[in-house]
Amino acid sequence: MIVDERMVTYINSLDKGNTAFLDELEKEARENRVPIIRREMQSFLKVLLRITSPRLILEVGTAVGFSTLLMSEYAPEDCRITTIENYEKRIPIARENFRKAGKEDRITLLEGDAAQVLKTLEGSYDFIFMDAAKAQYIHFLPDILRLLSNGGILVSDNVLQDGDLIESHFAVERRNRTIYKRMREYLYVLKNHEQLETSILPLGDGVTLSVKK
Ligand code: SAH
Ligand code: MG
Repeated sequence: MIVDERMVTYINSLDKGNTAFLDELEKEARENRVPIIRREMQSFLKVLLRITSPRLILEVGTAVGFSTLLMSEYAPEDCRITTIENYEKRIPIARENFRKAGKEDRITLLEGDAAQVLKTLEGSYDFIFMDAAKAQYIHFLPDILRLLSNGGILVSDNVLQDGDLIESHFAVERRNRTIYKRMREYLYVLKNHEQLETSILPLGDGVTLSVKK
């Protein structure tokens, strides 16, 4: 945990949750150890969606569709979401959740490795949520930037690697070093890219908020 645990507990204690459907989905996901965005990230996304009112959202990393459905709940009613997932076990569960929520005509789930799927996409998305394999963010970035509209928002989750990111390379466990190296590179590029203005926030497991100039 990168932020004081009691602080997070306190902040989240003020959170009144979501719709009954989303609360149930969140509970199920937790029980089945499916990774989903944390409460503080949920709240942050909800505020951002109210501010930006996106018409087209792209998500990388669907899991079972919790964050997809949360975004669809708090974005404008006519908003369309495209979401990408490559884990076969989760895809039918996500589809079923979209159907149960009555959102299947607003959400398009694309199956496959985002590295390939992103290349097939066109058009401009005004809100992109990156929440997949952390070591891949840097590789997705060129396509993400191509797909993001001018003035569009890019939010990336889990960028501080549970705090590992500020440690010395040698203090990081060997198996985490690729993520460490690529995530540091990702943050550097986001902060120095001429097309982006980026803020790195120690929220949840670390979040970046970028806007395309
Ligand atoms: N956004 C979801 C959680 C996503 S967890 C939520 O908050 O509800 C990250 C997901 O990204 C996992 O299900 C994983 O299978 C998927 N993923 C990881 N790398 C991927 C890739 N290269 N292409 C597509 N999906 C990927
Ligand atoms: Mg995440």
